Amino acid sequence: MDKKTIAGFLPEDLIREFKIFSQPGYRVGQLLCWIYKKHILDFSLMTDLPEDLRFNLNNFMQPVSLSLRKESVSADKTVKYVFETGTGELIESVFIPLQKRATVCVSTQVGCSFGCIFCASGLNGLKRNLSAGEIVSQLVCIQNKHPLNPITNVVFMGMGEPLSNYEQTLKAVRILNNPECAGLGARKITISTCGLPDKILQLSKEKIQIELSISLHSADDALRDKLMPVNKIYPIEQLIMCAKKYTEITQRIITFEYVLISGINAAKHDALKLAKLLAPLRCKVNLIPFNPVQGLDFLPVSLSQVNIFKSILENKRINVTVRRQRGVDVQSACGQLVRG
Ligand code: SAH
Repeated sequence: MDKKTIAGFLPEDLIREFKIFSQPGYRVGQLLCWIYKKHILDFSLMTDLPEDLRFNLNNFMQPVSLSLRKESVSADKTVKYVFETGTGELIESVFIPLQKRATVCVSTQVGCSFGCIFCASGLNGLKRNLSAGEIVSQLVCIQNKHPLNPITNVVFMGMGEPLSNYEQTLKAVRILNNPECAGLGARKITISTCGLPDKILQLSKEKIQIELSISLHSADDALRDKLMPVNKIYPIEQLIMCAKKYTEITQRIITFEYVLISGINAAKHDALKLAKLLAPLRCKVNLIPFNPVQGLDFLPVSLSQVNIFKSILENKRINVTVRRQRGVDVQSACGQLVRG
């Protein structure tokens, strides 16, 4: 029989599971405390749980459903992890420590079906969705490796499109947010999407204050069609209308991600068109210097190109940040995650 993965349960659902072990509900709190607060994943070390419960847990449950296969540490201390799922696929996640925070970037799918032409994750198409348990397991396993470095932020920016795996992604968000589980503030959780309007609207009604990032990458339909085939189904106007609705319903600001690729979308006229498109919205722009991907010919931009692009937007009163490149030497930066 397949073991059930504890990282995939909200406390109230786990209490129901515990009834078959004839155990009172408070045992769930003790178990979750070991996993999420003490970062212990071995049932035999959970000394305040009765022995028969530990025996049953060992036979019927597992804390996480991933096995660590490889870790690569970058010169900047970013760590890329390769995990194997219970069904033998490989997925990647990234640990990004900063002075006072630590961010984990999680994957939501094995591969990706959206085929953005500058991204490694979609090169082999989509194999399958990850379950909430597999998504949360990435954080639990990584926290277990860094017990003294509490994970403060989670970004759904690894392999896959989170909103096309909507149910499991949202369940993972709720588990990460639950105080008995990872206990991360909703505002410390960011979902990044290639721009699926129906799902963005659905998200706006969830009553959970997470951050939303939309990968825009061009303000021009003809160019965005080429860069992100999803644009042929949901063109820019439709996406922007829906983003506007999202900000109205949630009263939250959206971040638009814009990967800068030399000779493609990084010229002055691209910046001016972007500024005009976003002017009516409550939003911010996050510029991402393109990270090289093996087998793809795109060229990164220079620092001065980034700065010129940034100042054009700022002159039009748009709030802009530039994403720091982390872990490029171990292929763990945005767009470099690939497996399957
Ligand atoms: N499917 C989601 C998550 C993707 S990864 C989405 O599309 O938003 C997070 C960000 O990295 C996205 O904005 C993505 O477009 C960007 N990205 C992809 N490939 C990249 C590359 N080679 N260099 C820099 N950013 C890249």
